Amino acid sequence: MNVAVIGGGICGLTSAYQALSEKSLNIKQLHIYADKYLSQTTSNGAAGLCIAEDVFNTPREKLNRWGKDSLEYGRKMIAFDPDSAEKGFQPVHGFLLSRKPISDIRWAHLGISFVIMNEQDINRRFPNIDPDIKYGISFSTHTLESCRYLPYLTREIEKLGGKFFNRKIKSLSELSDKYDVIINCCGLGASELVGDDKMIPTRGQIMYVKAPWIKEFVYNIDFEDGKVPYLIPNIDRVVVGGTKQTYNSSLELSEKDRDWILEKTKKLVPSVEKMEIIGDWIGIRPGRDEIRLECEIIKAPSVNDPNRTIPVIHNYGHGSNGITYSWGCGVNVIELVRAHCGVKSSL
Ligand SMILES: Cc1cc2nc3c(=O)[nH]c(=O)nc-3n(C[C@H](O)[C@H](O)[C@H](O)COP(=O)(O)OP(=O)(O)OC[C@H]3O[C@@H](n4cnc5c(N)ncnc54)[C@H](O)[C@@H]3O)c2cc1C
Repeated sequence: MNVAVIGGGICGLTSAYQALSEKSLNIKQLHIYADKYLSQTTSNGAAGLCIAEDVFNTPREKLNRWGKDSLEYGRKMIAFDPDSAEKGFQPVHGFLLSRKPISDIRWAHLGISFVIMNEQDINRRFPNIDPDIKYGISFSTHTLESCRYLPYLTREIEKLGGKFFNRKIKSLSELSDKYDVIINCCGLGASELVGDDKMIPTRGQIMYVKAPWIKEFVYNIDFEDGKVPYLIPNIDRVVVGGTKQTYNSSLELSEKDRDWILEKTKKLVPSVEKMEIIGDWIGIRPGRDEIRLECEIIKAPSVNDPNRTIPVIHNYGHGSNGITYSWGCGVNVIELVRAHCGVKSSL
C-alpha cells in the first residue's frame, strides 16, 4: 500500500510512525508532506502537559479512549525506556486549581494518584493564594516535549523507510492518484486545504524560564479575558503561561500579555520571583468545534479507472491538547486505515 501523510507536527509524525510500525498494513511507500517541520510547527513549542481534558465539543467517550491509550503509552515509555527523557517524556505531579467547583473531573482519573483537594489542603500547599481559589485536584501524569519527541520520531520514520517532502499541498487531488490512502494531519491548515470552516485558531503566548526548583505543575484553570496562569516543569526549563485567545492568530509578542503572565504566575507561586526568563514563544493552537478524526471517501480517478476512490483519514483540530491525544488518535487512525483499505486486524 502507498500512503501519503500531510503534516509534520506531532499528529502527522505519530500517525506516520504508527503506520510504518504496523506490518499488517504492508506499506510499500509512505511519504510525508508538510510546509513546516520541527521548530516551525505549533507542536514544537508546547509544554506538552498530558491531561485528557475537554476539547471544545468533542464527545467525552472519544476523548477517554484517546486519552487512555495516550497516557498508557507515555507511562510505558517512562517505566521501561532508558532513553525516554531524551525522547521528551517526563513524569510530573501537580495541581489544577479553581474559584469554582471543578465540574467534570472524571477525566483526571486517567492520571495517577488522583485526589480532590479541600480548602485546607489548598491553603496549606499555597498559603499566599487568592482566598477565592477554594477548589482543586492533584494527580500525576507526564509531559511530552515535542522539541525532543519530533526529532526522535523523524529518525524512527526514516529508519522505517518513510520519506519527507517539504511542500505545501493546495488540494488533496495533488496526491490522490498516487496513493491508496491519505492521512490528513494538517492542523490549522484545514481551513485552506479542505475548506473546513469549523477551525478555531487559539493564540497561546508563553515564556520559558529557568526555575529548577519548580517540580510540579500548577494550573489555575479560571479564565480571565482569554488568559489562564500556569507553570509546567519540563526537563530543563519551566513553561510559564499563558493565553488561550480564540479567533486570534497574531504571532506578535504582546507586552501586555507578558506582564499579565508574570504578575499572575508570581502570585500563584511566589517562589518564582527570581526565575530567569530564557525566551518567549507564541503558537496558534489548531482548535475546532470538535476534533476531526474520521474517514472521508474522495474521488481519485486514474487512467485505468475513472471511478476510482480512496479513503482520506482526517486527524486534526486538537486545540490545546494535541500533544496529549496524539498517540491515542494515531491508534484510531490506523484502525480506520485498516478498516477502509481492507486490511485484517493483526490482533
Ligand atoms: C502555547 C501552547 C501551549 C500548548 N500546550 C499544550 C500542552 O501542554 N499539552 C497539549 O496536549 N497540547 C498543548 N498545546 C497544543 C498542541 O501544541 C497542539 O494541539 C498540537 O501541536 C497540534 O498538533 P498538529 O500536528 O495537529 O499541528 P501542528 O503542529 O500545527 O502541525 C501541522 C502540520 O501541518 C502542516 N500543514 C498544514 N497545512 C498544510 C498543507 N496545506 N500542506 C502541507 N502541510 C501542511 C504544517 O506545515 C505542519 O507541519 C499547546 C499549544 C500552544 C500554542
